[in-house]
Formats: sequence, structure tokens, C-alpha cells
Amino acid sequence: MHNGKMALPRLSPHCRDETHLSCPHAWASGVRLAGRNRGSHEVMCICECHCACPVFARESVSDEDWLSGCTCPGATSRKEIHVQVREESERRRVLRQEAMAEVVALDPKSREAIFKRSKRPISDEGSN
Ligand SMILES: [Zn+2]
Ligand SMILES: [Zn+2]
Ligand SMILES: [Zn+2]
Repeated sequence: MHNGKMALPRLSPHCRDETHLSCPHAWASGVRLAGRNRGSHEVMCICECHCACPVFARESVSDEDWLSGCTCPGATSRKEIHVQVREESERRRVLRQEAMAEVVALDPKSREAIFKRSKRPISDEGSN
């Protein structure tokens, strides 16, 4: 007999398989591009096995809240990956900025080109 509650209510694949100990609690990432909570967030597993976790019973939390708040044992390796990915993209962003700053420093003309590319008005200030 079905009790009419067949739909799985936002459980991670781990908890669906009843391998609760390996569930990272936050099991999918999403990005909101608009709205008050703009930024990346985590889709949370609502299985009761996470009831001891400080971020239990929330459907989605911000990256930060999950990284700092979640105490689930299964989350450890996912957190490591998450932090690595974030550091890597931050590192690339800094490298890009540095590379661009270098180009500008070496050749003032390239500065013009960069400004043209970004469709910003070029100021004559600073030219010889
Ligand atoms: Zn579970
Ligand atoms: Zn879970
Ligand atoms: Zn947790």
C-alpha cells in the first residue's frame, strides 16, 4: 500500500540510498543571479540524520553558512573540494588582474586598447 508520500522531499542521493554517513548535507550548488540573497548557495538535504547539525531544516543556505556551520561527517570531503575550487577561481581572478596591470604598465597604448574593448570612454589625461 502506498501512503501517497512517494515523492522524495529533497533528500540527497546518499540519504535516498540510506548511506547517511556519507551524505554531505549540502548536496548541490546553485547560484542566484538576482534577488536579495544573490550569490552561490547550497541545496540542503533535509534528512533527519542531519538533525544534530546547526544548519539542519533549511532548504538552502549560503556557501559561508554551510562551510562554517555544517558539522556533518559526510561534508568534510565536499567542503575541501569546495574551498579548493573557490581558492582556485579567486587565484585566477587575481592573476588576470595582475596580467592586465602588467600589460598597462609596459605599454600605455595597450591601455587604450583595453579601454576600447571594454567600451569605456578614453580619457586623454596622462598622455604625453
Ligand atoms: Zn540521511
Ligand atoms: Zn542527507
Ligand atoms: Zn550538516
